[in-house]
Amino acid sequence: MRELDLVIRNKTGLHARPAKEFVTLAKSFISDIQIQYGDKKVNAKSVISVLTLGVHSGETVHIEIDGTDEEAAELAIQEAVRSGLGEEDHLPEDEGEDPDSIQPDDDADKPGIKGVAAAPGIAIGPILQLVTEEIVVDEIFTDPDSENERLKAATVAAAKELASLREEMEDVASEEAAIFDVHIELLEDPELLDDVSKRIAQNESAGVAWQQSIVVRIERMKSVEDALLAERALDIQDVGNRVLRILLGQDDSFVQTWPDHPVVVFAEDLTPSDTASFHKDRVLGICIAAGGPTSHSAILARALGIPAVVSAGSDILKIENGTSCILDGSTGSVLIDPDESQVKQAQGTLLEEKDKQAAAEKASADPAITQDGHRVEVAANVGNLSDAETAHAMGAEGVGLLRTEFLFLERSSAPSEEEQFSVYRDIAQAMHGQAVIIRTLDIGGDKPLPYIDLPHEDNPFLGERGIRLCLARPEIFNTQLRAIVRASEFGTIRIMFPMVSDVSEWRAARKLVTDIIEEMQATNIEMGIMVEVPSAALMADAFAQEVDFFSIGTNDLTQYALAMDRLHPALANQADGLHPAVLRLIDKTVQAAHDHGKWVGVCGALGGEPTAVPILVGLGVDELSVAAPNVATVKAQVRTLNHTECQGLAKEVLMKATAVEVRASLH
Ligand code: PEP
Ligand code: MG
Repeated sequence: MRELDLVIRNKTGLHARPAKEFVTLAKSFISDIQIQYGDKKVNAKSVISVLTLGVHSGETVHIEIDGTDEEAAELAIQEAVRSGLGEEDHLPEDEGEDPDSIQPDDDADKPGIKGVAAAPGIAIGPILQLVTEEIVVDEIFTDPDSENERLKAATVAAAKELASLREEMEDVASEEAAIFDVHIELLEDPELLDDVSKRIAQNESAGVAWQQSIVVRIERMKSVEDALLAERALDIQDVGNRVLRILLGQDDSFVQTWPDHPVVVFAEDLTPSDTASFHKDRVLGICIAAGGPTSHSAILARALGIPAVVSAGSDILKIENGTSCILDGSTGSVLIDPDESQVKQAQGTLLEEKDKQAAAEKASADPAITQDGHRVEVAANVGNLSDAETAHAMGAEGVGLLRTEFLFLERSSAPSEEEQFSVYRDIAQAMHGQAVIIRTLDIGGDKPLPYIDLPHEDNPFLGERGIRLCLARPEIFNTQLRAIVRASEFGTIRIMFPMVSDVSEWRAARKLVTDIIEEMQATNIEMGIMVEVPSAALMADAFAQEVDFFSIGTNDLTQYALAMDRLHPALANQADGLHPAVLRLIDKTVQAAHDHGKWVGVCGALGGEPTAVPILVGLGVDELSVAAPNVATVKAQVRTLNHTECQGLAKEVLMKATAVEVRASLH
């Protein structure tokens, strides 16, 4: 075994980035590596454990390395720590040897915090240290039946709250709103409920039993050496607290009242519910001591457009309330008590960003043409009439995807032909002649409808969903198709079928539509398919001979190509649409379509991701269909691109081996 003492020279200590760098290096060796700080000794290969040590700048850590490659590990770790663990801004070597000799410079009085960038944008304002109160459960056990009933009522009420939170978020960020579906799912966790009822049977009150069961699960999750899983512990805590507060008749958990001016929120951690309750007018930015960029709070902050920094270290909690700060959510840095010139500079950058956004919105009606004259259509994904109105106002050149599920969910019987017809007609009219691609019902075992008798499925994402379900339920499908055909007289409507995996499904669906058109003596309607199952991408040349267009659903295509549940919290980072496997499927689809003179859109979330846009343009995608609020900025981005350069970039990334390599090459 080898042992060594090293001084951490990074200005913010062993936080976030340097910790990650250290852990990544430790993991590259077979040897068992332990890091000790004070009396705490932890596994050097666990980023959470290393972060929880809270090593400050200039302090010494003791390292023990035991294994076959211990010599190489010792040298590498020594060198990495000496050279600043990936950060240029670290103390020079001789200053670090003796912590007492470190003289605070100007910046030490006004420390710069280095966390992890979680949501882009700059926030300048006073800090509000948000403290949440522990929920104390002091209730008296009555009898098992009443306690079980109380619990049932509380979970039902919690599910209702979550459903309405989901609905609120749906308007701002429909994909991210799904986080609250996961919370609803947690409420129904059979193992959890079983544990609670066992505790109640042993004379624990509903509140005590629930709290104990939740605590056990949080601890279990936290003890797993996986940062993503540890972040998910917060989701369990969030759901747990919601039910507890309902049981105890309490409001939210914040200790202090909210000031009447906008603030930058500092907190140990935030639950998704906390973050979703923040309003952009009151919260300028968020800085979290713990957490990670894939936490649900970070995802929500991005969706809400609130700049955020995470993993900033527990020292941030010692900063006095009201102290001013500049937070940069794109770099992960936070400047405390900045001087006048720093504030001026940050205000300048903020203004520049706002100007950029304003310029994008001003030019939103103009087409998106690259510097070398290549046009890309930018359309919008909409879920209802009001989305379509926003889309039109934001300069969308059509609706690239109308998700019709909204008409079918949360009701006890299927919508009638008349009802559907009037909604489709209104949306077509709201787009003033621009094309509206109506996607037929994409529902399945994962989203059951009370009026469709669907047997339980072990793997609902691989079951009877999308076109499979519609073809098996002609009464529902025909009603929808008739409504669409009727509405097509009032605008430019195209029909798109979801989840097509076989040419025979497309042919069967097309026949149903052509029969209806013939019967109604309506004018012809263009029809296409979503390419979101790998088999459709691989067979694109066969489809291309028959369809009018393709639209690539990168959300599902990524899920099915990588065999990673798109809602799985622990896989969120890896289920990356920029994986070369997914990009190759997109490339194949575009090639096949263009060979047959057909066009291709992308309507999955990847189409609106700024890092992905140059690649998709380079791959030859003809249309990007994005969330309505993003239309103007995507158009503006396309105008900055050079098509030929994008083609070169696309060629290059198709040859990469992993999504990480693709992303690295974009920098
Ligand atoms: C997709 O899968 O990318 C898509 C756009 O469809 P949805 O997200 O509705 O499944
Ligand atoms: Mg899909």
